[in-house]
Amino acid sequence: MSELLVGVDLGGTRIKAAVADGAGRILVHATVPTESYRGPEGVIDIIAGLVQRLATPLGGSLHGLGMGVPGLIDIATGTTKFMPNFPTQWRDVPVARMLTDKLQCPVRLLNDVRTAALGELKFGHGQQQPDLTMAFFAIGTGVGGAVVVDGKLRLGPLGAAGELGHQTLLPDGPRCGCGNHGCLETLASGPAITAEGVRLLHTGLAPRLYELVAGDAGRVNPREMQAAAIAGDELVREALDRAATYLGIAAANVVTVLHPDLIVLAGGVAELGDILLDRVRLVIRQRVGMFPAHEVRVEQSLLGEQVGMLGAIALAGEF
Ligand SMILES: [Zn+2]
Repeated sequence: MSELLVGVDLGGTRIKAAVADGAGRILVHATVPTESYRGPEGVIDIIAGLVQRLATPLGGSLHGLGMGVPGLIDIATGTTKFMPNFPTQWRDVPVARMLTDKLQCPVRLLNDVRTAALGELKFGHGQQQPDLTMAFFAIGTGVGGAVVVDGKLRLGPLGAAGELGHQTLLPDGPRCGCGNHGCLETLASGPAITAEGVRLLHTGLAPRLYELVAGDAGRVNPREMQAAAIAGDELVREALDRAATYLGIAAANVVTVLHPDLIVLAGGVAELGDILLDRVRLVIRQRVGMFPAHEVRVEQSLLGEQVGMLGAIALAGEF
């Protein structure tokens, strides 16, 4: 094995790493706890150790390492600027340089959702259409986004282009972590959907959901809510439809701005599948009149949980 590509997906609770051949085929991969309490140096030690453990038995040299991180980065230097879910928030940590010193290979960092969109472009929907224009929504604990125009991931001056989850949907809506009110994230993220399920549970308006979670509000999540809706909880179905409609309006706004070939939904909430996709497709058709919106495809990511790591491998392949 000659040239190896390393992909790392750094999350607040887990680090996923994989080593691939030059064509991006994963040879080995592993997941370990992040142990973020150990601070940037401790976490970087964990990443370097994990990569060495995976790569050394393969022989060959490391061509490059790509890493998706949940926050804001100085892309040119690979320095973290703001990681909201990490102790000390990793302000001005030269992560790329520190990893290069330990692993003797070039290292590139990118926001995790932008990295995932790169994965979709190289190994997912983009494989059939390399020049596609795509809006990518990652719907989980938050709502992240990315835009690909004419086959190129667009990053803007700070690498922050494509924050699709922070467009205003309700002018006087709930306060968002970003400081704004009524962002899509406050209306359609996993926690936002779950909060409405819990409210219905506590008010006795969701009998099927109550049975499914045995009355335990801590077990409510979008997936259980979907099961309750199918079992007959009308108000739970309305709650899911409302979240999907907000997502549809956000997607329609993006369609009007970008006229993409494709809208991709990724992340845990996207696993709800058709209940979400069909509503988003409908709302786009209702709200976009400038061009034939039925030609804009709305699909789930083809790569599931692997999308972030595959994006990191694609990033490593760009050296
Ligand atoms: Zn926001």
